[in-house]
Amino acid sequence: MANFQDSGAGAYTVGMWMVWMVAASAAVFPQGAVVKVRSAEAVAARMNGRQARLFAQEEGGRLGLLGIPAQERPGEYRLEYLDAAGRVLKTDTLTVRDARFPRQNVVLGKQQVELKASTVEAEKVGAFLANVSEKRLWKEVFGAPVPGCMNSPYGVARMHNGKLTGSYHGGADQRSAAGKPIYAPVDGVVKIAEMFELRGGTVGLDHGQGLETIYMHMSGFAVKEGAVVKQGDVIGYVGSTGRANGPHLHWSVYANGVAVNPLEWVKLTPCAAPAKAAPKKGPPLARKR
Ligand SMILES: [Zn+2]
Repeated sequence: MANFQDSGAGAYTVGMWMVWMVAASAAVFPQGAVVKVRSAEAVAARMNGRQARLFAQEEGGRLGLLGIPAQERPGEYRLEYLDAAGRVLKTDTLTVRDARFPRQNVVLGKQQVELKASTVEAEKVGAFLANVSEKRLWKEVFGAPVPGCMNSPYGVARMHNGKLTGSYHGGADQRSAAGKPIYAPVDGVVKIAEMFELRGGTVGLDHGQGLETIYMHMSGFAVKEGAVVKQGDVIGYVGSTGRANGPHLHWSVYANGVAVNPLEWVKLTPCAAPAKAAPKKGPPLARKR
């Protein structure tokens, strides 16, 4: 995750050239990133039709989370800072770069391909993602919800049985045996704990101020809706319910309703590590700092 600072007039006193260099280097984001928009005065930020509220922070200033979707078209975008009346106070330019997500095939049975979310499931998840609560419970570094390696990263174009589905993977899959506990990666409030058709056993956690996470395919729950959880609390158990081709944990991170890359928040180890790709060591002089 990268910061995007509304520096305000006079924040940099080293001249326009330096200001431009600082802004330009900070303002390139890959698809799936979260733009942490900070401002002293603005109460909301807008980019490409999506808006994020900026909340007053304990350390001062305001902060909001603008998610960049995995399929956002690479290029330059205008970031607008808004006041309470919706007027544009100032604008910045930021660049979205192609994250070069790969394709991945998933082999599923006919029944699983045809599985659809019921109206109840779609409405409940939709309402959860549209909700933004005032109190910040999240902090910068998440714990991993399960210890297993990541066997499907965020952003890959998904194929079902060799056919492109037009959708992409909106979260990370981690390898885990059925029945293993799933831990809350950060403090939150349980907004969903329900067995759905498509997602299977699902928990939705609200971490406040526009940040939410969802866990799917669970075999069972350790929490009820409305419960307050702390980082590391068990929320449920790994399973293979809903559209899943075996036990694993799928989880997603949402910034104001936009699915963003979980790797922005937590370190996960890919299962298929590149074979013996030991980091190249430069000559001693090059490393001398
Ligand atoms: Zn998944």
